[in-house]
Amino acid sequence: MLFSEIGLGPEVLRAVEDAGYSQPTPIQEKAIPWVLQGRDVLGCAQTGTGKTASFTLPMIDILASGRARARMPRSLILEPTRELAAQVAENFEVYGKYHKLNMALLIGGESFGDQIKKLERGVDVLIATPGRMMDLFDRGNILLSDIKILVIDEADRMLDMGFIPDIERIVGLLPKMRQTLFFSATMPPEIRRLADAFLMNPREITVAPPASPAATVTQAVAMVRGEDKREALRHLLRTEDVKNAFIFCNRKRDVALLHQSLTKHGFNAGALHGDMVQSKRTETLEQFRQGEIALLCCSDVAARGIDIAGVSHVFNFDVPHHADDYVHRIGRTGRAGKTGRAFMLATPDDSRTLGAIEKLIGREIPRIMIDGLETPDMSEGEGDGGRRRRGGRSDSAAKVGSRRRGGSRSDAASEPPREVQAEAATVAEETVEARRPERPERSERPERQDRPERGGRDRDRNRNRDTRGETREGGRSEGSRNDTRPPRQDDRGEPRRRWRDEDDGPTVIGFGDDVPAFMLRVARPVARTVPPETFDGSDTPEA
Ligand code: AMP
Repeated sequence: MLFSEIGLGPEVLRAVEDAGYSQPTPIQEKAIPWVLQGRDVLGCAQTGTGKTASFTLPMIDILASGRARARMPRSLILEPTRELAAQVAENFEVYGKYHKLNMALLIGGESFGDQIKKLERGVDVLIATPGRMMDLFDRGNILLSDIKILVIDEADRMLDMGFIPDIERIVGLLPKMRQTLFFSATMPPEIRRLADAFLMNPREITVAPPASPAATVTQAVAMVRGEDKREALRHLLRTEDVKNAFIFCNRKRDVALLHQSLTKHGFNAGALHGDMVQSKRTETLEQFRQGEIALLCCSDVAARGIDIAGVSHVFNFDVPHHADDYVHRIGRTGRAGKTGRAFMLATPDDSRTLGAIEKLIGREIPRIMIDGLETPDMSEGEGDGGRRRRGGRSDSAAKVGSRRRGGSRSDAASEPPREVQAEAATVAEETVEARRPERPERSERPERQDRPERGGRDRDRNRNRDTRGETREGGRSEGSRNDTRPPRQDDRGEPRRRWRDEDDGPTVIGFGDDVPAFMLRVARPVARTVPPETFDGSDTPEA
């Protein structure tokens, strides 16, 4: 099918042609006609499939007629991260260039003043992260009664980031008569429940491929000791033909340390993580996009959806805690049919997590050895993916003893990593960019102002959000994916245990002999006394 046959208007088609696309991707082919007909759509698709255009193109056509009034946006697109929101806004700019639609991007970390001014002028398309959106709503800067189209993008990621209560609240404020487009890479029961609640007789469209990194990405894993990781990385950076690369760390602090270290060793590197101010995040990403920075040390804030053409390499300085993050991370390379190379450094403590990744992608990642570095005995690890320690140096690695350079290398060690390509793990590509259905990057929480309508416990939580800004990273706790509570971290970025977990103390808080009056009035099940999205006040999120 050609774009010209899909039912879009001539201006949109011209913009699509200018962008260089002649054929819709499967999600576009399936979704656009239904969106144009005004139907609700439930799309099971991940980034990289052309999903964004599947809703932006028909929305531009639909919104072309009609005018927005001050503070009353006509459509709303909710995105889990600022970067994704900004990318959607870029899509509107590219495809909407022959229309005169007003767009506002409401994301945290940027001035309220400018965003309010835009809202005052009237916007046709409002693209927002839930936290900033609710802030502006609570301040009275947005009226939601004119929303005709709602897009909830990356719903499963919203769930992972604890945004679902916000989403439910926002949807409750919208007119019942509206068109809703709901996209999620995966459909766990909680997401299905939301889809059932938000959508009316939707067309269901699934284009999610199985867990499969792009066929164009060559993968390898180097077994190293924790204390050798930086040296191993430098070795790979020097021996590989690296044009540009994402270098993923599990923790924000490690991103900063690795960035410093690489800079000290003369590499042209930048850093990107959720603790940085938004202007710096945007600037760094743009510098990387433009090639001014060759290496981007980053957290998982960059793992999902960031679309930069021609990235030659991805390095996993840390084995990601969650297997699906591996697929998201390496999906930053090998995009749009180009080849890419993905290397990971694994220590003995990572053996279990590495095993989970290989199980997910359905094959073993070829092992390589780094010239001049000892390969540790992987059985010495404690199999926890190195979570207890920062900086990659694991307890067990420390036990291995002094470095024995070159002492235990196998024949494979003398081969340059590039030659691993022949035995690289490759799998069939099914879409523009076939990858594992993208799971939410656990990267950030929105900053928010007080929410007067919520109870004290929530106010405490919001205060924590406010002071920390969008600092959550690697924040998904060890709990169920369906848990809608925001993840918590300790001051080192480690996921914190919940009060109900293990040995953190009693799971019932007593009042001694004093029984408060409210307890005498209503008998409720104990498990319901703490709403699912709230925390024990003694264990608040990272400030
Ligand atoms: P998305 O899934 O929206 O993140 O899109 C992934 C990439 O596919 C982006 O770089 C888009 O520009 C690109 N893309 C979108 N639509 C098409 C198309 N019809 N043909 C080829 N590439 C596309």
